[in-house]
Amino acid sequence: MVSSGWTKGLLISGSFLCVVGKLTALVGVLGFLFQFFSTHTVVWLIGCGFMSVVIGLAMSIRAFGRALIDIGERLLQFDGRVCPDCGYPLRGLCVDPIVCSECGASYSEQNLRQIWRGWDIVAKIERRSC
Ligand SMILES: [Zn+2]
Repeated sequence: MVSSGWTKGLLISGSFLCVVGKLTALVGVLGFLFQFFSTHTVVWLIGCGFMSVVIGLAMSIRAFGRALIDIGERLLQFDGRVCPDCGYPLRGLCVDPIVCSECGASYSEQNLRQIWRGWDIVAKIERRSC
């Protein structure tokens, strides 16, 4: 990617405008709320909004972690021979290229190793020849 001074300037000014836009919207929303509701109600609404963001974030992190654990367990169970596209086990398919019987995606043994490379250490995969 070419990163010229012009591009950097555009990115910085775009980011600045994005932040300014969000702050302006926040001030506008707060002004609207304070105009029609009491201070206690606005504080309560802001608290509810903040808590919903925190709860949503926690649930997303938990779901992401669970998905990572599922991938690791599946890779461990099938010695790293899992289709990267659909998660279907490729065990017993000893041809090159390996074609997933579930989704039809094809991978060479080397390509498959390269895709799951980072997981070898995490899931302690011991690759066996077929
Ligand atoms: Zn597949």
